[in-house]
Amino acid sequence: MLDLKLLNKQFSGCDCGREHLSTIKDIRIGSKLVNQVGSILKANSFSKKLLLVADKNTFKAASGIEESLQDFKLKTMLYNDFRIPSLEEVERITALADDAEGVLVIGTGSLSDVCRLAAFRKNLPLCIFATAASMDGFASSASPIIDSGFKRSFPAKAPAVIIADTDILAAAPSKLKAAGFGDMVGKYVALIDWEASHILTGEYFCKNIATLTKQATDTVFKLAPQVQKNGDVSGQVFEALLLTGIAMSYANNSRPASGAEHMLAHFWECLQIASGKIPEFHGAYVGVATLLVARFYNKLAKIKPEEISKKAIDKEEIYGLSGILAPAMRKLNKGSNIPSLEKVKTNWQKIKNIILAYPGPEEIFEALKEAGSPTTTAEVVISDDLKRRGWISHPFIRNRFTLTRLMSHYNLI
Ligand SMILES: [Zn+2]
Ligand SMILES: [Zn+2]
Repeated sequence: MLDLKLLNKQFSGCDCGREHLSTIKDIRIGSKLVNQVGSILKANSFSKKLLLVADKNTFKAASGIEESLQDFKLKTMLYNDFRIPSLEEVERITALADDAEGVLVIGTGSLSDVCRLAAFRKNLPLCIFATAASMDGFASSASPIIDSGFKRSFPAKAPAVIIADTDILAAAPSKLKAAGFGDMVGKYVALIDWEASHILTGEYFCKNIATLTKQATDTVFKLAPQVQKNGDVSGQVFEALLLTGIAMSYANNSRPASGAEHMLAHFWECLQIASGKIPEFHGAYVGVATLLVARFYNKLAKIKPEEISKKAIDKEEIYGLSGILAPAMRKLNKGSNIPSLEKVKTNWQKIKNIILAYPGPEEIFEALKEAGSPTTTAEVVISDDLKRRGWISHPFIRNRFTLTRLMSHYNLI
């Protein structure tokens, strides 16, 4: 069982020299908790006037929750099917929360992302009642939101309370379970990128946070064959997802849980939305992107430093392939730096060792298959054209070093 107080204690005085703290007050994961939401909120000093946000699917999944909230004065915002976490919706929820004393969101990724930022803006306590173990942002302090077509991470506040009823998690649609697995597997690539960046660019890195994320990912990775078949593991997957969210809070950004695989997934998601399509679930994109990046990193691990040479980067080509994202990317990449060829060559063996410390593409492929997660771009309705454009452009959709960024500056394979 996740003991946040103990975890905070273990991370206090971390030898990386930084303060690590999660401000979540209470985490409850267990059976039949849907009937106890009201009393849990009271125990955490939530006031009576609550804004309740859900969509029809999540509200139905949490059947019985209203009865537990009889002592609260509810204002309810019920969406039809909430899939796109846009800044407009953040503003709508922020306005609705005007006379509220707290926010309760029933749902998963997009709904909780939007409410996390709205509650932060109103300085209101937030409770997330999770209906599926489908993504890793529940415990995060940041909110990935789509602003003018561009998905970016807004600083927000972690929820005060997180509740997950394991009976509801177990009954979640299989697509959502598969998405949660895909999002978790992505951490392997994210951790490679973080440590590689530390070595090549001097970026801050905390070994303890990386270990926390890796252990959580290993736990879920081993559960792959049971993700769809055994409802009992949903609680474990959920806990692992929370741990990676807490790791992000500890690092004060999404670095421990988001590298090239998330950037590629975000590229696809943004361009699908821009062309008027409803995107697939975030974790489904992340799983497929993880496999593509893991295959590339596996090739990197086979090359010798003397085989690496410099090439001229064509930024105009990159922006030209990026559609609606191009203007923001131009601004983002103004001051971006890339490690020198000498630095790359000198540290190449270290980079290879980092890559080889994580499961390779074959293992990741098998695990995704077993968990019922998509493994091809076709399954997540990404065209070959978008796949190619995303591959070239994704390293530049944020100013964050990834090993995939090297391919624009150096001849590698
Ligand atoms: Zn640390
Ligand atoms: Zn994610």
